[in-house]
Amino acid sequence: MNSKIWLSSPHMGGQEQKFVQQAFNTNWIAPLGPNVSGFESDLESYLDQNKHIACLSSGTAAIHLALVQLGVTSGDEVICQTFTFCGSANPIIYQGAKPIFVDSELDTWNMCPNHLEAAIKDRISKGNKPKAIIIVHLYGMPAKLDELLSVAKKYEISVIEDAAEALGSTYKERKCGTFGTYSILSFNGNKIITTSGGGALVCNSDEEKQKTIFYATQARDSASHYQHSEIGYNYRMSNVSAGIGRGQMQVLDKHIDLRRKMNLFYKESFKNIKGISVFGEYSNNIVSNHWLSCIIVSKDARFTKEQFQRAMEKENIETRPLWKPMHLQPVFKHMPYYGSKNSETLFKTGLCLPSGSNLSIEDKERIFNTISQLL
Ligand SMILES: *Cc1c(COP(=O)(O)O)cnc(C)c1O
Repeated sequence: MNSKIWLSSPHMGGQEQKFVQQAFNTNWIAPLGPNVSGFESDLESYLDQNKHIACLSSGTAAIHLALVQLGVTSGDEVICQTFTFCGSANPIIYQGAKPIFVDSELDTWNMCPNHLEAAIKDRISKGNKPKAIIIVHLYGMPAKLDELLSVAKKYEISVIEDAAEALGSTYKERKCGTFGTYSILSFNGNKIITTSGGGALVCNSDEEKQKTIFYATQARDSASHYQHSEIGYNYRMSNVSAGIGRGQMQVLDKHIDLRRKMNLFYKESFKNIKGISVFGEYSNNIVSNHWLSCIIVSKDARFTKEQFQRAMEKENIETRPLWKPMHLQPVFKHMPYYGSKNSETLFKTGLCLPSGSNLSIEDKERIFNTISQLL
């Protein structure tokens, strides 16, 4: 059997172990230390917008602490892109609030500004103005930020920008992860860079960053004994994980370049093939990191999405359907939803293909040959 070709697997640059070794040498084996602050400042310079970043145990934790700091509590409503991974939406429930799901448009597959405005108007007419809007850049593709942020501004609602999949993507030459009232990043094992598990909350002031760290370390009051006036969480990133992150930062841009080349490889491979389209940027204003490359298999293709998946599986090549929209998830099926059928159609017809920065020439040949045999 051929070795497995994964959708997206960790890709170390080489210096990660050096930083981890330093953590061991100095006995900083704790959820604080020089690697944590080093990784934070690496990220702050990379995003380049005077941001203040707190590293956390996951991207989901970062969304949770954004909601906490925006004062979202029980009875509140929070608008969330329906076409996403559950990590975007679950923290709304942690806060006892109610998610209101909004459909995507087909240019970027992200939140549709028109459906967003319709949702806000309807919720206001029902007497409950949404407390926050969670916008996602799915698969690394920047959302229509100008339009979305102008709707948010018009109704004075805070934005949480979920850039978990979009580190290094840009919108009008500015990095994704710098547009929200709060923005979040993820360093889970399958993301564009990894700390084996981790995330970050991007804040607009040092005060917000310190408050984030306060909530992430059990909300301890400043007293020598352990005193608590608020409920906190154990969400800080470990100094060992942050060491991996520091090493990964050295290869981030190189790895983005390789992911973008994977996208070109698919555009080339599926060129002139009826019924298959490779998802790409619809405008020159945006650059996707192409975290995952995706295709849509339409009705006029010579094979179905399922046939394609089975053929790849036989060759031990991983593929995966696009994210199942949140409003179709059993756990969220009673939550309000605003939209047409865009995300549902994408879910039915789309597939993610192997996209890692570590795929070899042989891997690509195997993928290409499998595609060719199907035709
Ligand atoms: C991965 C991901 C998250 C959550 O990140 P974790 O670090 O896995 O908790 C949130 N939103 C999106 C869109 C993601 O892909």
